[in-house]
Amino acid sequence: MNNISEFTSKKVLVLGLAKSGVAAAELLHKLGAFVTVNDAKPFDESPDAQNLLSKGITVICGRHPEDLLDEGFEYVIKNPGIPYNNPIVSDAILRGIPVWTEMELAYLISEAPFIGITGSNGKTTTTTLLFHMLNQGGQKPLIAGNIGTVACKVAEDAQADHVIVTELSSFQLMGINKFQPKISILINLYESHLDYHGTFENYADAKFAVTKNQTNEDLFIYNADQPAVVKYAELTKAKLLPFTTKGRRAEGISADATTIYWLGEPYLERKSIALPGEHNLENILTAVATSILMGCPKETIQHVLTSFTGVKHRTQFVREWKKRKFYNDSKATNTLATKSALAAFEQPVILIAGGLERGHSFEEMRPYMEHVKALVSFGETSSRLVEFAASCGVDYLKKVDDIEQAVKVATAISEPNDIILLSPACASWDQYANFELRGNDFIKAVFQIK
Ligand code: ADP
Repeated sequence: MNNISEFTSKKVLVLGLAKSGVAAAELLHKLGAFVTVNDAKPFDESPDAQNLLSKGITVICGRHPEDLLDEGFEYVIKNPGIPYNNPIVSDAILRGIPVWTEMELAYLISEAPFIGITGSNGKTTTTTLLFHMLNQGGQKPLIAGNIGTVACKVAEDAQADHVIVTELSSFQLMGINKFQPKISILINLYESHLDYHGTFENYADAKFAVTKNQTNEDLFIYNADQPAVVKYAELTKAKLLPFTTKGRRAEGISADATTIYWLGEPYLERKSIALPGEHNLENILTAVATSILMGCPKETIQHVLTSFTGVKHRTQFVREWKKRKFYNDSKATNTLATKSALAAFEQPVILIAGGLERGHSFEEMRPYMEHVKALVSFGETSSRLVEFAASCGVDYLKKVDDIEQAVKVATAISEPNDIILLSPACASWDQYANFELRGNDFIKAVFQIK
């Protein structure tokens, strides 16, 4: 790790603990900073806070004192989930104190270069797929960020011949200063997290931060099919590599219905790709382009594409039973993701959906409901989903209490060649702590079918 002196003898406030706050506090302490952490959880209930205190870090827990910043902090490192209208954060900004996320720390201390992956949908899939390609292609990738290990922990151990592949949320990107990936990827931009960002422009600006520090020594891989993304491509100083899923193109990487093209030349046939869904093509194109540029052999890239069937909970193939296929798309917590999952299949689909009521409309899914032969719904939105599916002409509609029942009902009415898809179009928090537990319940129920 680079032993930077930027924080030596400086007073740094780490706001919000969780995994990233703990890692940031420990790292800053090692770098010689005077660290204070502040977290809402009471001290007695926070083993993390107790542990940090035992290491000599100042800990203020259970409250956020309004006069906290009077102590003369020179930096604030905040958890990405804390909004900018938080009183301490906005006060820090007013006082001109830099407010960063731990991704910036990771960048500052890392000997290894970064690949930064962002977009509204597909980040985890792209990051994982790219990791497999690089790993099998003779590179030394490390995964960090939203998935896997906290970035500044990964960066501590990374050496110059590693490459850190990071999945970056808009929240993380808002807190960077010098972060400059060698390769940045912007998969797509859809309206998302507007409750946090206020406007689409603010959200898009946050995503653009992935390339804002890049120079012409770096590369920006971007979605040339989306005008909102192209606008940003015109602003970056990085070298450009466009991708398109709308047909062969001489520049960058492109695809039509049958083939993927690299610089306009056929590169591989799409029929050998195991990952289902047209939406995944965006993820595949960016991962393939990055792997080619990083020097991975074509055979390795092809091999990974024939074997990679998806990341857990993301249109993940679970099981084939008596000619029915079961897919777990529990990560689909909004209608956009469920829409993509429905578009991935041509066969009749039995859709299992429902969850937390946020009052959002399901209308966006309507054009994709044609091959949905049945809806089994659960959770707070179950009645609204039944109404919606009925208005789309879905024949069989059933409300159930939980996923286990949903799998039983769906299996009972299924026929050979059907797809049974859990793609809830809603967050899980009415019945589950997170979407992973919801997906695990589905997988368990699917394997109980005799
Ligand atoms: P993220 O990490 O950005 O949330 P994931 O790879 O976890 O993305 O996928 C989340 C959901 O979005 C999944 O349900 C998946 O089916 C859908 N999805 C994945 N990639 C794309 C894409 N490129 N465009 C639209 N939807 C996608």
